[in-house]
Amino acid sequence: MSESCIEIIGGGLAGCEAAYQLGKRGIAVRLYEMRPDRKTAVHQTDRLAELVCSNSFRSDERDHPVGLIKREMAAFDSLIVKAARASSIPAGGALAVDREAFSGHVMQALESLNAVSLIRQEVTEIPPGFSIIAAGPLCSDALAQSVHQQLGDTGLYFYDAIAPVIEYDSLDLEVVFAQSRYGKGEGSDYLNIPLSKAQYLELHRDLVTAERAEIKAHDSLKFFEGCLPVEVMADRGVDTLRFGPLKPVGLTDPRTDQQPYAVIQLRQDNYARSHWNLVGFQTQLKWGDQRRILQKLPGMANARFVRFGMIHRNTFVDSTKHLLPTFQLKNHPQCMLAGQISGVEGYIESASVGLMCGLNMARMIRGHAPVVFPSTTAMGSLAHYVTFQGHRELQPTNVNYGIFEPLPPGKKIKRSDRRRAYAIRALQDLLRFALASELDIDEPFLRTQLAELEPTAV
Ligand SMILES: Cc1cc2nc3c(=O)[nH]c(=O)nc-3n(C[C@H](O)[C@H](O)[C@H](O)COP(=O)(O)OP(=O)(O)OC[C@H]3O[C@@H](n4cnc5c(N)ncnc54)[C@H](O)[C@@H]3O)c2cc1C
Repeated sequence: MSESCIEIIGGGLAGCEAAYQLGKRGIAVRLYEMRPDRKTAVHQTDRLAELVCSNSFRSDERDHPVGLIKREMAAFDSLIVKAARASSIPAGGALAVDREAFSGHVMQALESLNAVSLIRQEVTEIPPGFSIIAAGPLCSDALAQSVHQQLGDTGLYFYDAIAPVIEYDSLDLEVVFAQSRYGKGEGSDYLNIPLSKAQYLELHRDLVTAERAEIKAHDSLKFFEGCLPVEVMADRGVDTLRFGPLKPVGLTDPRTDQQPYAVIQLRQDNYARSHWNLVGFQTQLKWGDQRRILQKLPGMANARFVRFGMIHRNTFVDSTKHLLPTFQLKNHPQCMLAGQISGVEGYIESASVGLMCGLNMARMIRGHAPVVFPSTTAMGSLAHYVTFQGHRELQPTNVNYGIFEPLPPGKKIKRSDRRRAYAIRALQDLLRFALASELDIDEPFLRTQLAELEPTAV
């Protein structure tokens, strides 16, 4: 392994973004991906940047933290954001993609870079030189062990669940109706299964009594709060789902002209509109029970399943203990951890860490010190959150304004204006930071985003 070649382990969202950021700067990269020879429990293809569950990159609103992080990344020419925009499909205020087209864009962009070589091989140890470990929540056992050895502890994990996907032409469209909540986006972005009170109560009973898949756990099950299986939410109370993912607000059943008692939404999962996933309906129930319970629902009697929900282990390190805010390992600073394994959660968050690692690795190779992104920005807030030492118990985090440096005290800002205030400050600080650190940033793009938020903020 030559010193100037960066080894990136894992061709997922973080690894591909990091490879692109380095490759486009002419820095040699070896990108290792173990599929197809070695599979994970959830990946289904041999493609790079495969989206393992939902096809959504969540909100695309400019002042939403998830919309904001996409704009911050786009300002650094993020491959993942470009590919998502190029393969987007209608999804109301969210950015959802055709998953095949999305990974096709990513693969094409990397193939076009001479500096990037793709090697289909499992890596079982942390490389000795410059490297980025982006092996994801399903990092292979051998590599996970090598990471834990390097860190001198057993690492952390929690359990995650994914939602079933249904074939469109197996739904009864006399009953299941197309509509977006509050009429956002196109009316046909979402399909809705309307439930009466009796149907909802029966579903609740079914969820709490159905058989759950056993997992090989030595320890008690720990779930990520942001992605609880429906049956775990159902255990918490009869109304938990009705006020959570099955909330009916903003939806009217055209057959009755009334808001249903509860609604299960389906979101388009591919360009062809032939696959639809059940939104927020991630589950660990046994497959037979999933079929039995879901086929009882209105319009679902003949539902065919493209994929059932399932549960999997999710590996991440205790980043507060082991990582610098540049994602370098404290005891091996030539190695960075990127993506979910670094303690963030979500496609876009994982890619954003890949982007920060790529930019900083490029700096290090060229003899500059790596830089820490400001904690007033979406990307920087993730870096600070996962490496902040004061957590009672670290849980992988999505980006949200709760992890940003708070707005300065004094000036009273109306609740409804707070999101915008956070977003404006983030983009202004990102621009200042990038210019001061001599990072390539698309200044005109950032200024346009700022002007859209607040014409006087530019
Ligand atoms: C089942 C599941 C469902 C999820 N659902 C969502 C969701 O709906 N929305 C969302 O925003 N986030 C979701 N996540 C969370 C997470 O953000 C994604 O997993 C995201 O893909 C993480 O990006 P990553 O780059 O860190 O890892 P990945 O995208 O998983 O990429 C890691 C890659 O490394 C490869 N690899 C692993 N070990 C080795 C090795 N030793 N050598 C070589 N290659 C290796 C893997 O094959 C994989 O391709 C989900 C996670 C899981 C596991």
